[in-house]
Parts: sequence; C-alpha cells; structure tokens
Amino acid sequence: MTMTTANLLEFDLDGLAAFCEKLGEKRFRATQLFRWIHQRGVADFAQMTDLAKSLRDKLATTAHVAPLPVVSRHESVDGTIKWLFDVGDGNAVEAVFIPEDDRGTLCVSSQAGCAVGCRFCSTGHQGFSRNLTTGEIVAQLWFAEHFLRKHLARTERVISNVVMMGMGEPLQNYSALVPALRTMLDDNAYGLSRRRVTVSTSGVVPMIDRLGGDCPVALAVSLHAPNDALRDDLVPLNRKYPIAELLEACQRYLEHAPRDFITFEYCMLDGVNDRPEHAQQLVDLVRGQGISCKFNLIPFNPFPASGLLRSPQARVLAFAKVLSEAGIVTTVRKTRGDDIDAACGQLAGDVKDRTRASERMAQRRIVIHPRPARAAPDAQEP
Ligand code: SF4
Repeated sequence: MTMTTANLLEFDLDGLAAFCEKLGEKRFRATQLFRWIHQRGVADFAQMTDLAKSLRDKLATTAHVAPLPVVSRHESVDGTIKWLFDVGDGNAVEAVFIPEDDRGTLCVSSQAGCAVGCRFCSTGHQGFSRNLTTGEIVAQLWFAEHFLRKHLARTERVISNVVMMGMGEPLQNYSALVPALRTMLDDNAYGLSRRRVTVSTSGVVPMIDRLGGDCPVALAVSLHAPNDALRDDLVPLNRKYPIAELLEACQRYLEHAPRDFITFEYCMLDGVNDRPEHAQQLVDLVRGQGISCKFNLIPFNPFPASGLLRSPQARVLAFAKVLSEAGIVTTVRKTRGDDIDAACGQLAGDVKDRTRASERMAQRRIVIHPRPARAAPDAQEP
C-alpha cells in the first residue's frame, strides 16, 4: 500500500464500480468486493478468495481499506460502548454503541468539532476543525459492526440503527454524508432500513431539501427552543434559518421521508427553555404549521464550560405532559453511558480548537436579545 492508493471505504457501490471500471473490471466484481469489505469486514484483499487472482493483484497495488486507529474504548455498566478514533493532525472523533432489547444503535460523528456552536453541546464548545471524509464516517460503522460481532460472538448483524448524532452537523458535510448513507443502506453492505438511519440536524434548511431528493432517511431536528429569540441564542444557526423556515423545510421533507413524522429533539435546560409556557408555545408552533412530529426531551448532561444545568425531573415530566395532552407523542430520553461521558451532548473527542470557540462561548451568557439581522453564510456549508 502506498499513500497514493485509494481507500475503498470512501466509495459507495456506484463509486466502487467506477473505480473497478478503471481497472478494467465489471460491476459485479465491485459488488463482490463491496460485500467482502462491508458485510464480512475483510480489509486484506488476499483473503477475498472468490475474487480473481488478477483482480486481487491489481487491488494490492492500487487500493487499500483504511480503518480509523482506535485511541480508546470505554464500556459503560449499561452496555454502552464509546470509541475514540484518531482522524489525524491531533483530532479525534467519537462513536457510541447503545444496545437495547430490540435494537443496536450506533451514534456516528460527521465532523471533527462543529461550527454551529450550540450552547449546551460539548462539541460545539470546541469549535470546528474539519469535515470527515465519507471513508471516515463509514469507518466508524465498519469498525463497530465487525468489532461487536467478534466481541459478542454473533454472526448476524449487531447494529440495526444508525443515528448521525455524534460530533458535527452532518448537513454541513453533505457531499461526504450522502455516499456514507448510501453505503449504510445498501443491501450489499449494511442493508439498514431508511427508517432506521437518522440524520440529525440543527436546521440547515437548503440541505434538508437536498437530502429529501438525494437520500431520504429519517430526520431529527434539534429544536431546543419554541421561539426565535431563545433559539438564536441556543442554536446560533437559527439566525440564518429561523424556526418558520425550518418548519417549512420539515414539511417539505415529509413528502419524501421514510417515516411520516419528524422527530424534534429538545434539550431540557434548567430555567432556560423548560417552563410550561415554552411547552405551550411548541404546541402552538407545530399545530400552526400542521406538522406531523414527535418530541424527544433530552435531559441535559452538564459540563462546566456551559454554565447550564439539567432541568429537574419534575419539570421535564410537566413539560412532557403539556405536549402529550395536546396529542403530540413525547418521549423523555433515557440517559445512557453517563459513566463514560457517552451521553448526548457529552461527545467531546479531542479536537484542536482553531476557532477559539470555547473562549467565545465562555463570554456568552443566556440573554434574550431582540432578533439581529441574519448572520453571514457559514463557511462550511456546501
Ligand atoms: S448540537 Fe450538533 S450542531 Fe449543535 S454544536 Fe453540537 S454537534 Fe454541532
């Protein structure tokens, strides 16, 4: 393997077929190769015994399969497993496996750091380092699935669900995300149902529309506030794509979505967004839009730099009651992996903060200002 050979984890099946065509090989060879890599977890071409020797020889000089180096693995008492992967240049990203009775979910990262800078998010406090490549996104699933099969002595698939809810805003890394999603869905790879692959976004409106056309999967939207004044402060991207525009995009997405509802994520922050009147505003908001949705209330996982606290359980339940009594399906997320810092919003990885986001965040306080003019376009948006 040389530095100039192609990493085959970068390709969805069409991409791999195009690569094989350049080697003078037919598409069915690409399909065989794709299955070896993703279904069987094999990285060594010499072990791909039903590939012609001539193809294996060509692959040995032109291609490789590059796993991400594992920096650490932590297992929670509740079975949650968190991996930290080295993505080079001093950056690391995390993936988390969450086992449940009826499913195995992998939470996958899409960027090293994040440019959105949500106040309640540990990743957001680090600033943005870089987008992951398709191969780096897929490598998290590739490694976790085949590690778990060995670890749990299973021959069948372990990971049934993927949520793009790790580090980063996936829709700000769109061109790498879509081939990665296609690989997750491909029956010759992981064969995941579109309903069981979820992209979570803070609300990159144009990319929600593109995803609906290119690769519709389940959509979760990090809402976290019932009005623009509060959301501008909690999720700064709101200044560019305010709630009304975001909900309209959600409505359009539902025309393509594999599920007939959007999931709204709502992180419960003590004294900030957790009052009954906030819940009532949410009811009015989604009713006004006529949008089919569910709410997922997330207990905040405090970290010192945030200056925020978790809402008391009684207030969370009272909030959920307002939504439920209005006929909106509402769940309160169980916290998993607390003991290994793998719970939602705790994924911090180890990212070089080139943007000094943590310093800027430390200077911010929760103050509700009148809405400013729209922010300038984000540099990372495709
Ligand atoms: S919640 Fe998501 S979009 Fe917001 S800063 Fe964290 S990783 Fe980025």
